[in-house]
Amino acid sequence: MEDCLFCKIIAGDIPSNKVYEDDMVYAFYDIEPQAPEHILIIPKKHFDSILSVAGKDFEYVDRMIEAAQKLAKEKGFEKDGFRLVFNTGKDGGQTVQHLHMHLLGGRSLQWPPG
Ligand code: AMP
Ligand code: ZN
Repeated sequence: MEDCLFCKIIAGDIPSNKVYEDDMVYAFYDIEPQAPEHILIIPKKHFDSILSVAGKDFEYVDRMIEAAQKLAKEKGFEKDGFRLVFNTGKDGGQTVQHLHMHLLGGRSLQWPPG
């Protein structure tokens, strides 16, 4: 996807603060953190949102969650917890049209969200 911000981040054309990378997944710090630790975990293949994933491509989602588990443990969130979020579409507040999962931790988070 030529015009996709997160595809450009994966390609290294736009700088990011990387925390994790493997063959399917890339993770970096959110530029506008909403918690002491706010990481975005994205698939290296472009999907517009979670609605666009099908069939064997769900391996990307598995691997995103695996990366989230690893990062949550590394950050020490096992005891107090953390949150994983897929904002999807207009009502979900999705602003970047490349599938991404937010990992938020380091403080007590409110529920329900605004
Ligand atoms: P969403 O609103 O769920 O689509 O999440 C998109 C997220 O991407 C927001 O939390 C933004 O702060 C974040 N974001 C936008 N541009 C960048 C960037 N260049 N580097 C890191 N995070 C970004
Ligand atoms: Zn993309």
